[in-house]
Amino acid sequence: MTAFVLMLLCGIASTGRADEGGDAGEPLRILASTNDLAAIARAVCAEQAEIEVVLRSNRDPHSVEVRPSTMRRAAHADYYLAVGLSLDLWAEDIVRGSRNRDLVMIDCSRAITPQGVPEGKVDASMGDVHPEGNPHYWLDPENGALVALFLAEQFGEARPALADAFHKNARRFEETIAGRIVDWETCLRGRSFVEYHDTWLYLANRFDITIAGRVEPLPGISPTARQLATLSSTIRTDEIRVVVRDPFHSESPVEFLERETGVRDVVIPSVCEEGRPEAYLATFDRVCAALESAVSP
Ligand SMILES: [Zn+2]
Repeated sequence: MTAFVLMLLCGIASTGRADEGGDAGEPLRILASTNDLAAIARAVCAEQAEIEVVLRSNRDPHSVEVRPSTMRRAAHADYYLAVGLSLDLWAEDIVRGSRNRDLVMIDCSRAITPQGVPEGKVDASMGDVHPEGNPHYWLDPENGALVALFLAEQFGEARPALADAFHKNARRFEETIAGRIVDWETCLRGRSFVEYHDTWLYLANRFDITIAGRVEPLPGISPTARQLATLSSTIRTDEIRVVVRDPFHSESPVEFLERETGVRDVVIPSVCEEGRPEAYLATFDRVCAALESAVSP
């Protein structure tokens, strides 16, 4: 009888310890669509997570060919972090293909207020338009902070013992961003550039930047010669110095603009190249450096 009670007590005690230990000790397994989301998740989880990324560096996030190896990675994950707003629709294939019923998909766009929501009906004539709004929201650093706070909330529910640490980390990330924003603001406010794709809307709105024109007449559609000629005259009239594009965008239309107007072709990956918080923040430094150097001789 005594032995039985002891066994029972031990059983309870060890269950309690196991729960606690499992709670704080097991790192979260996270698979993220992009390095930016991985970087933000890393800021929140610090060492308490194993984080992998689907999109390889310098690839177009709009279209990704999902491989079986990616689905296998998702099979062992606790969380899938999606950009949302129809950018990474391919993420749904990964989650479905993983056959992992415990995998929780987090749509990170729930943390932010979408901009560039098209008015009226969206159809194919409008190009690759996202009906719920422009999905490139991580390019406003304040949205990065909002996603961090949102993730801290989500992860805290899965690991109550770490909830405080996650919140503290997210707040610290928010403070870091708030500190850096002062410099970015000084550097970026009132500037203008031409973009390749409808990528930089959130950055432009945050820092009062004028997007003077766009190489793609509609998202995902290449420009005609006539459209490039019109853009050339805008660049001349508005004295634009820089065209910003991603590494995966075609350089030939920008080379044409360069020849015609002397504008500078600046390649800045809009999806950061590593899943580290500093890599995410460096995107904004790069935009600053590019726009500053284009103005000074
Ligand atoms: Zn886009």
